[in-house]
Amino acid sequence: MSNKHFCIPENNFPKIVVIGAGFAGINFIKKLKNKPVQVILIDQNNYHQFQPLLYQVAISGLEPDSVVTPIRKLFKSCVNLIYRMAKVEEIDTKNKRVHTDIGYINYDYLVIATGSSTNYYGSKNIEKNSIGLKNINDAINIRSWMLQNLELGVEGCNFEEKSALTKFVIVGGGPAGVEMAGALAEFKKYLLSNDYPEIENGAMKIYLIQSADRILPTMSKKASKHALKVLKNLEIEVLLNSRVTDYDGEIITLLTQNGGEIIRANNLIWAAGVKGNIIKGIDEKAILQGNRMKVNQYSQVEGLENVFAIGDIATMISDANPQGHPMVAQAAIQQGKTLANNILSKINSGDFKIPFNYVDKGSMATIGKKDAVADLKIFFLNGRIGWLLWSFIHLISITGFKNKFKVGLNWMLKYLSYEKANQLIIRKYKRDN
Ligand SMILES: Cc1cc2nc3c(=O)[nH]c(=O)nc-3n(C[C@H](O)[C@H](O)[C@H](O)COP(=O)(O)OP(=O)(O)OC[C@H]3O[C@@H](n4cnc5c(N)ncnc54)[C@H](O)[C@@H]3O)c2cc1C
Repeated sequence: MSNKHFCIPENNFPKIVVIGAGFAGINFIKKLKNKPVQVILIDQNNYHQFQPLLYQVAISGLEPDSVVTPIRKLFKSCVNLIYRMAKVEEIDTKNKRVHTDIGYINYDYLVIATGSSTNYYGSKNIEKNSIGLKNINDAINIRSWMLQNLELGVEGCNFEEKSALTKFVIVGGGPAGVEMAGALAEFKKYLLSNDYPEIENGAMKIYLIQSADRILPTMSKKASKHALKVLKNLEIEVLLNSRVTDYDGEIITLLTQNGGEIIRANNLIWAAGVKGNIIKGIDEKAILQGNRMKVNQYSQVEGLENVFAIGDIATMISDANPQGHPMVAQAAIQQGKTLANNILSKINSGDFKIPFNYVDKGSMATIGKKDAVADLKIFFLNGRIGWLLWSFIHLISITGFKNKFKVGLNWMLKYLSYEKANQLIIRKYKRDN
């Protein structure tokens, strides 16, 4: 651990250290813009990522820089913010200090917004041989791996070999898995025979494996039913009540309703769950199931006075929400904003004022280019209208005008044709040995 103190200007304002520039962290900071506090943001990456559109990068639909925004650009007019690119390694709550790989910093208030990462539920084999869909690196890796395997498939001399190279198994029937499967199926339907004429259409198969008895289990039954119908029309094999138990890089072992089965495939995309990014130094008593930190209604971490957690890493359990809030962007955004107001009120009047109250604005998932399901407060939408709403909501939510413009233009062009301009292997993907 480095003994060097962060090199930052000292002043008499309360010092708020924020770990993580995800949805929770950036919305917290925006509310504190130019207020009489010193905000120090630490993130291991120099960008904020818009995770809901990662699958479009993975499928070569969007270029990677359309879904990430440089942190320094995001906060260029925020004069009370200092950003450092660093990985936080440990928190010393006794001495109110955060240790990173480039030095340490002391805080008056600490906000942990470290989000979550892919949960492989302890399977080292699956972790080593599959690719998650959780960050921009994963998305670029999937894109490269898919295109590399298609190029190999072109050379593969027998059908079985081609089939294994071009078979895609997606694990996890939540929105991320469903969206990825739908996009892959459209790639197969509209692009495969044009771009890879040597690969027979029947060789490429797409499977979606879901452990529950329906896909999109956090959405309404109507949404699940419609999504299943659309996926089946796109010739995706959906296996419900099924679990992947092992993967050696070639053979996927499954437990299905019919017992043990295997699938020979070179591409396994793991979208089956996440766990919180816990940092060393937090008392185990404050860490609950799924590595999430127990917080009260003011986002204070259990047992700690000036330490707060927001977003995916936090779980706020109440009678109304016995499981805590869902790990979605809206919950993270709302928690970030509320906490900023509460910390300002604590600094100004000595007290927190607003208990957090999650407003569920509904949930959506798109399936392919022209269909989506949307569970809204008072009604349900699907088909083309659902897709238009999904596109609009995502477009206004992406950070930065340039990204909105690039994504909007890209979608317009794609709507008119199925071309994918980003089928590029810029950086080859290699599995870890
Ligand atoms: C593929 C996918 C699709 C999704 N689609 C949707 C959707 O359609 N709608 C929706 O509402 N939600 C969606 N989500 C969920 C949503 O993206 C998350 O709930 C949201 O990102 C959580 O925000 P956060 O700020 O808590 O964490 P994150 O956005 O994950 O940000 C965490 C930040 O912390 C940083 N960090 C972590 N550990 C450290 C460390 N030790 N040191 C320094 N920095 C660190 C990371 O680099 C990252 O920038 C999706 C998620 C995925 C993966």
